[in-house]
Amino acid sequence: MHISADDLVDVLRSEGLRITNPRRLVCTVIAERHSDHLTAAAIFDAVSTRSDGDLDIATVYRTLDVLEQAGAIKHGHIGHGPTVYHLAYEADHQHLVCSSCGSTVSIPTRDLRSFIDVITERTGFVPQVEHFALSGLCADCAKKSTTE
Ligand SMILES: [Zn+2]
Ligand SMILES: [Zn+2]
Ligand SMILES: [Zn+2]
Repeated sequence: MHISADDLVDVLRSEGLRITNPRRLVCTVIAERHSDHLTAAAIFDAVSTRSDGDLDIATVYRTLDVLEQAGAIKHGHIGHGPTVYHLAYEADHQHLVCSSCGSTVSIPTRDLRSFIDVITERTGFVPQVEHFALSGLCADCAKKSTTE
């Protein structure tokens, strides 16, 4: 599956947003850097360097909001850092963040299937585990903490 900037612009248009140059650039940045964990600030910076007009960070947030409400992107949280955005179809992974060195790895959400199913079976609650990162120790830091 591939989502282009034009696809995202179409989403904005169908949500009734006027397509301004900054909004189009927000879509371009998200589509081009879809494998990054983009923050609103990073998108703002990337758009600012390409746009000659005035850009308001509120425009970035508003555009992200509309794209998310339309189901095109999803946000998540990695550690204590700012919110990050993914294209919706790429958001199906769990972030693991090391509380000691801050490194992050991702695993497919399906690897947590049995964990999710146990919670749902016992409580009826359906966790959206990928919304928040799991905190713990990476392989290297875990090794260090047992050998010390
Ligand atoms: Zn991610
Ligand atoms: Zn959130
Ligand atoms: Zn670590």
